Amino acid sequence: PVHIDWIQQGPWASPDERGFGVAPLLTQQGLFVHGIAVDVRNGKRFMNEMADRKTRADAEYVILREAPKAYPVVIGTYNTFGPQIYPQVDKGLATGVMKKFDTLDALAANYKIPTDALKESVKKYNETALAGKEDEFKKQTLKDLKATPIDMKGPFYAIRLMPKPHHTMGGLKIDTSARVISANTNKPIPGLFAAGEVTGGTHGASRLGTVAVTDCLTFGLIAGETI
Ligand SMILES: Cc1cc2nc3c(=O)[nH]c(=O)nc-3n(C[C@H](O)[C@H](O)[C@H](O)COP(=O)(O)OP(=O)(O)OC[C@H]3O[C@@H](n4cnc5c(N)ncnc54)[C@H](O)[C@@H]3O)c2cc1C
Repeated sequence: PVHIDWIQQGPWASPDERGFGVAPLLTQQGLFVHGIAVDVRNGKRFMNEMADRKTRADAEYVILREAPKAYPVVIGTYNTFGPQIYPQVDKGLATGVMKKFDTLDALAANYKIPTDALKESVKKYNETALAGKEDEFKKQTLKDLKATPIDMKGPFYAIRLMPKPHHTMGGLKIDTSARVISANTNKPIPGLFAAGEVTGGTHGASRLGTVAVTDCLTFGLIAGETI
């Protein structure tokens, strides 16, 4: 086996629902793009909300290791959500995984975020975004993302964040012919082939989005041809 304890974490998930849930759609296709994620202890941003999965999950874990109940909160306004996820907005509110507040003061009070610091973080983000300047966390500009700033009129939408296991990076070692390699002999085990998530090492430390299925198809096809 290779990298057997490497598990990719999805930084878009929430502790307020079971499994994958609806939060990943609302964050990935909305709140992370247009909004900001803050550390509830100080009201400040702590990551590029559009960074790769590992960078974001690691940043969330830095907070959660220090304070296991201080789930970071991602915040945005309705302009965040594209038409394709409008039904998910209602679902997120109905299940309670996403909450809606008329004011930033109410949002801050609910999550016990220092109010002035939170307002300052939103102001700073919006100013940078509108000016098209480089963001302090090197997030792409909102122009690049075709996104708009947080609408200060509100209402404000928020989701608590907690990474959840998303992909097992490790698994059986295979060669380029999809033959499983023995840990004892470092040679192919006759007649044993593998493809997809059961294999390890194909994607390194952090799999990029959408390529797992390609991995399954490619090595599945190769295994078939090799047999
Ligand atoms: C929420 C989520 C979203 C994702 N989105 C994407 C995406 O957009 N694009 C992308 O490329 N990838 C995505 N992935 C990853 C991708 O879906 C998986 O990597 C891929 O489906 C794995 O396929 P697989 O056939 O290798 O393994 P699996 O789909 O896990 O199949 C293994 C099968 O083996 C069965 N099995 C296990 N043990 C035994 C046994 N002893 N006997 C018989 N059967 C057994 C299991 O029941 C299962 O059906 C996502 C993953 C998750 C969790």
